[in-house]
Amino acid sequence: ARAQAMEVVESPTVTYDDIGGIDEQVREVREAVEQPLENPEMFEEVGIDPPAGVLLYGPPGTGKTMLAKAVANETNASFIKMAGSELVQKFIGEGARLVRDLFKLAAEREPVVIFIDEIDAVASKRTDSKTSGDAEVQRTMMQLLSEMDGFDDRGDIRIIAATNRFDMLDEAILRPGRFDRLIEVPKPAVEGRRRILDIHTRDMNVADDVDLDSLAEELDDYSGADIASLTTEAGMFAIRDGRTEVTGADFDAAHEKLSNVEESGTGPIS
Ligand code: ATP
Repeated sequence: ARAQAMEVVESPTVTYDDIGGIDEQVREVREAVEQPLENPEMFEEVGIDPPAGVLLYGPPGTGKTMLAKAVANETNASFIKMAGSELVQKFIGEGARLVRDLFKLAAEREPVVIFIDEIDAVASKRTDSKTSGDAEVQRTMMQLLSEMDGFDDRGDIRIIAATNRFDMLDEAILRPGRFDRLIEVPKPAVEGRRRILDIHTRDMNVADDVDLDSLAEELDDYSGADIASLTTEAGMFAIRDGRTEVTGADFDAAHEKLSNVEESGTGPIS
């Protein structure tokens, strides 16, 4: 199970150009991650410590994972992904050991971006820590914090975490020297949706009658991931109909299909 828990990607292929609607967040992540990797002497001369960890928070499917991958790619760093839920293990000490393994692996891969998704799984506010399960989760979090506190001498290791449950987080992980750079990644507004539509249709054979501007207006409350599903669905409608060009009607049908799924509460729309 240990090997499965960590996903190592030598160098992801996602670029900043693949990410739409969150330019300000991209800028902030670059500042926190690229600057220390590329210009450590700047921080020395200014006399401040670079941000230790970056925490991305916001609804599902808004591009948090993409952002972490892109920054690894654009700095030629390796990328190691771990889900917080994978760190919650049955046996005592196992979660903490996974954390140690994670940082050991990272040290062998420098420069590297460690991405911990669902950080809330190991870093929620203390509930009833008398139950043994909770105590084990606590130990895992303490191990993570102690690895981060020993960060100075770790060289080119940058750590990014993500959560959809910011309100649940234990303040201990937000202290200076830990996840001290907080970046909210919201669902896109209309211009952002327009840009994401552009990105996801750029390799598609789209008919002239497709009006991406009005579509962007209509996709209220859609996340980037929802928009990606919509474009795929539209393409599927064309294929089912034996066509290779995707029309406005295909996009409308896809929109309707995803809206219905949303209403029944079982589908991909969050
Ligand atoms: P979760 O919180 O569920 O892990 P996330 O915020 O990490 O979600 P991603 O995994 O980065 O979301 O996004 C999932 C997919 O949705 C991406 O592979 C991409 O196709 C699309 N997507 C999401 N956000 C954007 C965006 N801002 N620009 C372009 N595509 C996006």
